Amino acid sequence: MDMRRPIIAGNWKMNKTVSEAVDLVRQSKVLVADIRDIDIVVAPTFTALHAVSREIKGSNIELAAQDVFWETSGAYTGEISPLMLKDAGCRYVIIGHSERRQYFGETNESVHKKIKASLAVGLHPILCVGEALEERETGKTFDVVKIQVFQCLEGFSREEMDKITIAYEPIWAIGTGKTATPLQAEEVHAFIREQLGSITHRQVSEAMRIQYGGSVNPDNIGDLMAEPNIDGALVGGASLTADSFSRIVKFRKK
Ligand code: PEP
Repeated sequence: MDMRRPIIAGNWKMNKTVSEAVDLVRQSKVLVADIRDIDIVVAPTFTALHAVSREIKGSNIELAAQDVFWETSGAYTGEISPLMLKDAGCRYVIIGHSERRQYFGETNESVHKKIKASLAVGLHPILCVGEALEERETGKTFDVVKIQVFQCLEGFSREEMDKITIAYEPIWAIGTGKTATPLQAEEVHAFIREQLGSITHRQVSEAMRIQYGGSVNPDNIGDLMAEPNIDGALVGGASLTADSFSRIVKFRKK
């Protein structure tokens, strides 16, 4: 486990104007300034990326986008390319979030294209996978997650896999206040790592980080992070205030 540096990312979803986003990251920056052993990431909306990028310059916070398109440029009204995200200061990009799958027609195939295009410009994708409540209740969790992992990551090289983080986010736990228990999460994380081991080199799969997402808060982060295959968190609601986000990032200092 020591080989995997924890990564805690705040997904701000469709929240915050530019000035609110800058305020939030300015406050968070101060509160987490002494943290050196965790990758800290924030994912504002597209409109706030550049301003937030300027605000975090020289700090220990890094920038992610919440989505991307796979083409480089051209007649794709409303879309944003990987290069544009890099240009705006992003290091990471969240791809395949369940809200994109649920409301905007994201499929494993489009996720694959987005990951490929993002890697091509040096972005680090955060691939989201996870089952719906009905799938969990009918015993399909492992099948669903396996298909997502295989289809989204098919054919990537060892070097490409090295740059990818996985976020396991059971849909029933997102924004519901209903967190998976550490054991429920660990069981799926271990399974995902095993699947990764069958599509890439063992060394690579052992080094890949798997975040948990779904109602993470300052009170449950410690127990989740104690599990051997949980390497971080993707945090929605609790990342929207500097106080709760910083307390999550500082989970070891409770
Ligand atoms: C998310 O958006 O990825 C998420 C996990 O949200 P929340 O923490 O609010 O459940």
